[in-house]
Amino acid sequence: MSNKYKILIIEDEANIQSFVGTILDANNYQVLTARTCSQGKLMLSSHLPDLVILDLGLPDADGLEFIRFARETSSVPIIVLSARTQESDKVSALDLGANDYITKPFGTEELLARVRATLRNSRYSAESGVLAEGSFSLHDLMIDYDKRMVTVNGNDIKLTQTEYNIVAYLSAHSGKVLTYASIIRAIWGASDPGSTKKLQVNMANIRKKLGAKPGENKYIINELGVGYRMCDENE
Ligand code: CA
Repeated sequence: MSNKYKILIIEDEANIQSFVGTILDANNYQVLTARTCSQGKLMLSSHLPDLVILDLGLPDADGLEFIRFARETSSVPIIVLSARTQESDKVSALDLGANDYITKPFGTEELLARVRATLRNSRYSAESGVLAEGSFSLHDLMIDYDKRMVTVNGNDIKLTQTEYNIVAYLSAHSGKVLTYASIIRAIWGASDPGSTKKLQVNMANIRKKLGAKPGENKYIINELGVGYRMCDENE
């Protein structure tokens, strides 16, 4: 299983949007686009992208408004596209929680390098300071974070995007109990009344796919009433 990273581009200039979109698409990223700040907000909530590339000069609102909105519920990494005339906006953007910026005009290699670095460095780091980089292994279980692949005994485990995100999140904090609320926040951004049930259903599927029998603690331990914990190497 190999899942593509989803990248949302919020940019009103058609030529820049298509330039960035084409490069990302050619490099195996899934591209989503929005032309306005309000459209971007909707896409963020409905598509849960892995990364946002944000133009600061949008027709309906300042791009900073998007960052403010995003940071209320989400730690999605944001790369800002700014013109040279927007130097001070760049600082405001970083202060508000943007992860990086690129100054226009920029080239293909610079864009791709920033995207790769930001995806790698910000995976879960906002929550924990842990960099989920490279790979994770626990007994027969192997997670390749760059390819978003999970294997057990060398066999591909077919997980949904959500299931993968949960496994990756738990593994980045292996040995530590993560509460239901903190997992829900990390995976879905905000919680709703059905969130705990949704998490439990995903968890049951994950455990089944990883080959755990009912009641058996294999890789992931269910700390009843509290949350879940990925075992660490010594267990
Ligand atoms: Ca613009």
